[in-house]
Amino acid sequence: MSDDRLTDVVGIDRGIRFLAAAYDSSGKTTFFSGVQVKAKRAHYKALRKELQRVGTPSSRRRLKAIGQRENRWMNDVDHCISKALAESYPKGTLFVLEDLTGIRKATERVKASNRYVSVSWPYYDLEQKLIYKAAMRGQKVINVDPAYTSQTCPKCGRRDKVSRDKRLHLFRCTGCGYTSNDDRIAAMNLYSMGNEYLVQSGKSMSLAGGVRSMTPDVTPASADHCRAVTSPFFKASA
Ligand SMILES: [Zn+2]
Repeated sequence: MSDDRLTDVVGIDRGIRFLAAAYDSSGKTTFFSGVQVKAKRAHYKALRKELQRVGTPSSRRRLKAIGQRENRWMNDVDHCISKALAESYPKGTLFVLEDLTGIRKATERVKASNRYVSVSWPYYDLEQKLIYKAAMRGQKVINVDPAYTSQTCPKCGRRDKVSRDKRLHLFRCTGCGYTSNDDRIAAMNLYSMGNEYLVQSGKSMSLAGGVRSMTPDVTPASADHCRAVTSPFFKASA
């Protein structure tokens, strides 16, 4: 996908509370809940721990089988989310993700009870699947430096740590007062960085003038097994 064919931008913030929060050109945010994944991984972890403790040949066989089952399931979750993302946006969409260095840093900051989930979560796999599916649909994925994406106001540009209340998952700009969910703020900033990327590469001047409307050209397949993974998710408007 050459850059001059890119016409839409979607910023995607990845995390634990939401596996993905995607902010698009129409001002909508789509959240993919991480609650079920977190619970299921905790369940697998407890099961593995117990089987390791038992340590018999049969428990080791079960341990292996469970590990494979967990991997298949995790693979499927990544497949479903990347599929939903690729199919929700039109050809010519630029997906903007924070690079994985930032994810490792973010992982170090999460509280201990969340840590095993974030450390082992296959962000890399999700990204690879999205890159593959995006390429098939005439879309593109880029990585950007995620520094300050959670503490910069997407409206006025003010950067202030104090604007973000991590405990309440709330961002309130100390400059202009703009308020939103903090995962959404990160996605909005990734979106802006994507627009900047297009403007600077000089390949899509249409975006420099403002936000374009978005018309998905494909309706996601209905009633397939991915529906359970990608819902509940909800959309919020700006
Ligand atoms: Zn502001």
